[in-house]
Amino acid sequence: MPKTLPHVIIAGAGIGGLTAALALLKAGIDCDLYEQATELREVGAGLQLAPNGTRVLFALGLESSVRREGVETGDKTVRLWSTGQTWSLFDPTVATATERFGSPMYLMHRGDLHAMLVDAVRERKPDAIHLNSRCADFEQSESEVRLTLEDGRQISGDILIGADGLHSRIRQKLFGPATPKFTGIMAWRGLAPVDRLPAHLGRPVATQWLGPNGHVTCYPVHRGTLLNMVGEVERDDWQLESWVEPGSHEECLRDFPGWHRDLIDIIDSIDQLYKWGLFLREPLPKWSVGRVTLLGDSCHAMLPFLGQGANMALEDGFVLARCIEKYRDDPAGALQRYEAARRERTTNVVQRSANMAATFHNDALSDATAGASYISSQWHPDKIRTRYDTIYNYNAISTAI
Ligand SMILES: Cc1cc2nc3c(=O)[nH]c(=O)nc-3n(C[C@H](O)[C@H](O)[C@H](O)COP(=O)(O)OP(=O)(O)OC[C@H]3O[C@@H](n4cnc5c(N)ncnc54)[C@H](O)[C@@H]3O)c2cc1C
Repeated sequence: MPKTLPHVIIAGAGIGGLTAALALLKAGIDCDLYEQATELREVGAGLQLAPNGTRVLFALGLESSVRREGVETGDKTVRLWSTGQTWSLFDPTVATATERFGSPMYLMHRGDLHAMLVDAVRERKPDAIHLNSRCADFEQSESEVRLTLEDGRQISGDILIGADGLHSRIRQKLFGPATPKFTGIMAWRGLAPVDRLPAHLGRPVATQWLGPNGHVTCYPVHRGTLLNMVGEVERDDWQLESWVEPGSHEECLRDFPGWHRDLIDIIDSIDQLYKWGLFLREPLPKWSVGRVTLLGDSCHAMLPFLGQGANMALEDGFVLARCIEKYRDDPAGALQRYEAARRERTTNVVQRSANMAATFHNDALSDATAGASYISSQWHPDKIRTRYDTIYNYNAISTAI
C-alpha cells in the first residue's frame, strides 16, 4: 500500500526554501516553512537570473512575474578599469539568451524575486510561511523528524530541509560547524537610482569592470530603476560576512583610485553603501542523513564571481521537490536521489566560482595595453563558452533523478 503523501518541513524561507516549497505545493505535497525573520522586508540588492535559473522560475509558473519585475539582458560586457574600453561577451548577432540557451537571462532585485516566490507560495497555501520561527535543533527516528524552534515549539514531519542559508543551524547539527576561510577580498554593495546616472549606464546589460586588485559588477534591477553595484577589492581588514553592514563613500572611493569616471559616478549616486567580507567554504561531501537534507547556501555557499548562488538554490529546490514527489514512499531514499543528482554539479560551480578570483584580479590589468590584451584573451568567445555554457544549459526540469 503506498503511504500517504509526505509532509515536508523547511527551515528558512529564502530563495531555495521558497522554491522547494512552491514546487512541492504544485505537486500536491504539503509543506511548511519556518523563517527566523519577524517580517518579510526587502533586504539585499541585485541577483543575476541566468537561463538555468529562469528555466526553473518559468516551470513554476512565474514567467510573467519575472518578465514584469526583472530586466531582460541579451549581453554581458567587460570594461577596463582605467580607460573604460568595452568588450561584448556574447555574439551580438544572436539576439537573446533564449536563442543561445533556451531560456532568458534576467537581472533582478533579490527583494523582487523573494516577494514573487512568497506570493506564489501563499497563493497555494496562505499559512505556509511561519515568521518569527528560528530553527534551533531537530531529532529524527525511523518514522519521522521533529524540528525544534528556539522558542521551544516543536514541529513533526516526514522530511526536514535545511534551507537556512550561510550560517545554517541544520547543517551544523548534521555535520558540525563550517570552517569558512577568508578570501582576502571584501565587497562593496549598493543601488544607484538610474535617473541620477548618464543614460549609457542604465542600459540592460551586466557589466564587469576589471582592475588589478579588484573588479566591479553593475547591472540594472527593479524594473530598470536602480543600478546594482558590487565592487570586490583585495583587502584583508574587513572580515564581517553581512548583508546589512553600512560603509562610507569616502572609504569606498579610496578602494577604487584612478578608476574610470563612469564607475565613480555610479558610486557617488548610491545613497547607502554596504560592506561584506567574502569567505570560502569547502563544499560538503554529504548533504543528507536519513530524513534530513540541505539545499542552497547551507551546503554549497559560493563566491559571487559567476553569479550563480541564487540560481543553484533555484535548481536545488526544484530537483529536490521532484525527488520527493517521485520517491514519495521512501523519504530517505528520495533525499539520496536528490543529493546524487545535485552534488557534483554544485561542487563544480563552487570551485569554478572560486577559481575566477585569480582571473578577475590579475596584475596584467594595471597597464592599459597589457590589460586590454589580457581581457581579449581571457574573455575570448571560446573561453566564455567554456565558462558559461554548461552552467546555463543545465535543465533542472528534465535532469535525471
Ligand atoms: C537578507 C539577505 C540578503 C541577501 N542579498 C543578496 C544580494 O543582494 N545579492 C545576492 O547575490 N545574494 C543575496 N543574498 C544571498 C542569496 O539569497 C543566496 O546566496 C542564494 O539565494 C541562496 O539561497 P538560499 O535559499 O540558500 O539562502 P538565502 O536566500 O540566504 O535564505 C536563507 C533563509 O534562511 C533564514 N534563516 C537562517 N537561519 C535560520 C534559522 N536558524 N531559522 C529559520 N530561518 C533561518 C534566513 O533568514 C533566510 O531567509 C541575500 C541573503 C539574505 C538572507
